[in-house]
Amino acid sequence: MSRIRLLSETVASQVAAGEVVERPASVVKELIENSIDADARKIDVIIRRGGISLVRVIDDGCGMDRDDALLSLERHATSKIRSAADLQAVATLGFRGEALPSIASVSRFRLSTRETDAVAGTEIIVNGGKLETVRDGGEAPGTQVEVRSLFHNLPARRKFLRSENTESRNIEHQIHLQAIGHPQIGFSLMRDDRMLFQLPPAATLSDRIRDLYGVELLQRLAEVTDVASPSIRVHGFVGQAGLSRQTRTQQLVFVNGRAIQSSLITAGIREGYHTALMKGQYPVTFLFLEFDPAAVDVNVHPAKREVRFRDPNGVREAIVRCIQQTLEGGRAAWQEKFRAPGSSPAVSGKAVPDLTLRPDIAGPEESHRELPHLGPTVISRPAVAGDLHSGTKVTTDEPPAPIPPKRDRSQQQFQIIGVLSKLYVLMENADGLVLVDQHAAHERILFEELRRRMEEQGVPAQKLLLPQTFDVPPRDADWIERNLSVLQKMGIGIESFGPATFKIDTVPSFLNVSDPVQFMRKVIDDLKSAGNSTSAMRLGEEMIAKTVCRHAVKANDPLRYPEVEKMIRDLLDCDLPYCCPHGRPTMIQISLAELEKKFGRKI
Ligand code: ADP
Ligand code: MG
Repeated sequence: MSRIRLLSETVASQVAAGEVVERPASVVKELIENSIDADARKIDVIIRRGGISLVRVIDDGCGMDRDDALLSLERHATSKIRSAADLQAVATLGFRGEALPSIASVSRFRLSTRETDAVAGTEIIVNGGKLETVRDGGEAPGTQVEVRSLFHNLPARRKFLRSENTESRNIEHQIHLQAIGHPQIGFSLMRDDRMLFQLPPAATLSDRIRDLYGVELLQRLAEVTDVASPSIRVHGFVGQAGLSRQTRTQQLVFVNGRAIQSSLITAGIREGYHTALMKGQYPVTFLFLEFDPAAVDVNVHPAKREVRFRDPNGVREAIVRCIQQTLEGGRAAWQEKFRAPGSSPAVSGKAVPDLTLRPDIAGPEESHRELPHLGPTVISRPAVAGDLHSGTKVTTDEPPAPIPPKRDRSQQQFQIIGVLSKLYVLMENADGLVLVDQHAAHERILFEELRRRMEEQGVPAQKLLLPQTFDVPPRDADWIERNLSVLQKMGIGIESFGPATFKIDTVPSFLNVSDPVQFMRKVIDDLKSAGNSTSAMRLGEEMIAKTVCRHAVKANDPLRYPEVEKMIRDLLDCDLPYCCPHGRPTMIQISLAELEKKFGRKI
């Protein structure tokens, strides 16, 4: 007896729906993409109960005549491609001809559509995949799709839905993605009869980002500089160093206008940020990559969330380069922040600022205190014990900050007011108040200093009185063998001394190593866990980043004013001054506007 039979069209659609329609947000995605492909200028989304009870998407696009409207509900019916060859260069968001029939098979579905010049429109009602009604409809030109009771006939799938709140948030995120990807289209979202947002068509991406996320975020973004590559064009915005999020929700990447998820691109972004990103945090990106459509395969994933690149390495490298360039390019703007109020904008980026200190704070007593020296000389100093975040109250041994003396500040780039809690350097600039974390700032300075030395001549090494040998597991031995030259550049003199035995005879002189073998084991562990994709130099950077923390000035290390001054100046000279090598910000700005708000001068 034969056991194989063809599935009915409805069941086949329901099976396909399992791939395309995972949750209400996928319905929203598919419907919006159809509207975009139909050249809509305005897309309104209405949802109820997390989209489970209702999703309605209304557009003012080209609409469909009756024949097309009926055909659009058939499986594999699409106006967007005609042959497999067209798949090589898909210019629309859709092309599989699956979404509408899939959605209609797992919901109570209504399509109402009308072409611009048509006298009447068409209304079609489908229930769980069964066509119920086809009649003339009288709605405005464009298309309206209503999806009610999603998965009412697929209880297994319905059980997998999350809370209404979570589903709503997914939908909101989906609309954000589309809105960022298509700034020229107006979007609105109404949730349970409440208008969540209404975005007018925007002239530029930055306008759209501002309308959606506010001007504060926009100000912390840098416009990406394109990479000189014949095969890829990059544009958009990424967060300046020091800006990060606890989740991935603002890490948006678009390939040829399509929001995608790609571990390759994510890794590229991460590597581009490198020390500019805190561990466990995610960058903020609105990154647009444009390729020759033939260089990307979008037909990998039913929901088209993933793509395949013809030249993955090229793509990754371009992204790393793009992010690095962009972050370093933001430096001039950042230095601008340190300009004292009213100073001339003619001071150039790298010029050594004429820092005028107020003698009343840099008193003689203060300047004679024994203090750690800043700059390169500090690197041989043994680690200072101390808790970075200890003590946050204002110290009282400093005189209250008086009004700065009136003087010609045209040369000044920054104006130090004092040091708070032996940790935060307070400075005044044109925008208001700048707080610099002296520890983070010093870490950044040391980091770049050591990295430069490592790149130029290798870090200075210090000979051990007694070379030591140690055994490692075979995998580690292999790792050490492969990285010998890098380790040497980092001041670690190590050589093979048997199958899985090594001899260590020098350690970096900037470190205070009491037990070289234990130190080596730690270095190996740290660097191995630092990631598999890290290049040789990156390993060195990683080690430096891990060690500078222990050598930088701490909270509670009181600094003399000339030292604070030098530190700020050194910081401004760094490639990436805005954050410490662990990605924490080195400074924060509190604007006069914020202060005015806090003091109730402005609402
Ligand atoms: P695909 O988008 O992959 O072609 P769909 O099932 O999503 O498949 O849609 C089928 C067809 O219905 C589309 O190719 C398009 O011609 C038409 N269509 C769907 N939605 C709209 C809309 N909002 N406006 C105009 N035409 C639409
Ligand atoms: Mg579609």
